[in-house]
Amino acid sequence: MMEQTLVYYKDQYLDELDSPVLSYDGNKVCFTQNIFFPQTKGEIADFGSVNGVAVENVEKKDGKVVVHLKGEPSIQKDQSAKQKIDWNRRLNGMRLHSALHVAAGIMERDHGIRAVAGKVYEDKGTLTFKKPVPAMIYLALEDAVNEFINSEKDIRTYWDEKREGFRWCQIGDLEPIPCGGLHVKNTKEIGELELAGNGEKLEIRLRN
Ligand SMILES: [Zn+2]
Repeated sequence: MMEQTLVYYKDQYLDELDSPVLSYDGNKVCFTQNIFFPQTKGEIADFGSVNGVAVENVEKKDGKVVVHLKGEPSIQKDQSAKQKIDWNRRLNGMRLHSALHVAAGIMERDHGIRAVAGKVYEDKGTLTFKKPVPAMIYLALEDAVNEFINSEKDIRTYWDEKREGFRWCQIGDLEPIPCGGLHVKNTKEIGELELAGNGEKLEIRLRN
């Protein structure tokens, strides 16, 4: 059985790749070297195309990433096909996802309030905290988060040495968080953020 390489963990900035087709079934394709990131609880799936046919969804099934297309491309098993991802969507997804880590990390560091859930949408990210947060704290958080981002902290991801397939993300000197998502490499790529908190819910948007 041929293995699938998840290329996005080696290079999250690669937006185009020719790779042999591992398997296909109608409009569903699996690549040996896959660059499409699947839909997860915390992140949006990549869009893009395979041999020019638009991608509808990307899912992880039985340990493999399967790309669902809007039509049936002319491809054959073991032959190469061209994967192309929608770069703006990928980059915004990585920026928003990284922003959630920063906001959650600073909230915990400065105010001792833990985030219990995070989700990325096309135009915003959301965090849910363990308890309602006073408006004053949200105001202070926005300043602290933007100051942290402006100070150009490295975002590092690494595999756990003991647990196979377990990945960590560490931003600057914030607590490392277990995460299988995709991140930009430095907080300067996130840019300035707009925070809107209400009760235990926080919405985060990119200013540009
Ligand atoms: Zn992450």
